[in-house]
Amino acid sequence: MIIEDKMKLEQKCSPVSVKEGEEIGVRLLHELRQSENGIGLAANQIGINKRVCVINVKEPIVLINPKIVEKSKEQFVFPEGCLSFPDSKVKTQRHQDIVVEADNHKGKLSFSANSKDINDAFECVCVQHEIDHLDGITMFDREFKSEPLVRGVNAPLKIGRNQRVTLTKGSQTKTLKYKKAEPMLETGWTLVK
Ligand SMILES: [Zn+2]
Repeated sequence: MIIEDKMKLEQKCSPVSVKEGEEIGVRLLHELRQSENGIGLAANQIGINKRVCVINVKEPIVLINPKIVEKSKEQFVFPEGCLSFPDSKVKTQRHQDIVVEADNHKGKLSFSANSKDINDAFECVCVQHEIDHLDGITMFDREFKSEPLVRGVNAPLKIGRNQRVTLTKGSQTKTLKYKKAEPMLETGWTLVK
């Protein structure tokens, strides 16, 4: 049974022993395989408020007490879904590269969306999505609102040439100095912040 109550999913999960975490991991992978198109699941989504989540994009990965220890400044926009909100799709903004530590993995785990394989992007987003669940954060909290900025309307008339701005085009985002961004506005990029 997958919990679809947003209030319940907004509670933080508590740390767990590796032994108990492994048992929860087995249940989560089982539950995930029952779902039609799920690629990740966190323990609180099946009513267990413990810090365990699983990801199954390229291979099954169990993370017990996971922590993101490094994240890139570069972010990208990605359409996300969630087994707890089967009818919703949200465009979110996620880090392009992350490094994760978990109690059941000796080494650090690196995930990068910066590759030609779309599965790498799915996996990298999924890890961030599931770790968020353990902190009571849902994809709705990461929504990327791409309301275009129009100078003099919802943005200052004058933007400093060295001021950093964010541009979006399709699923890509870039943050760079305005003097470099300005010519891109002619090629389909939109200013968002
Ligand atoms: Zn989810």
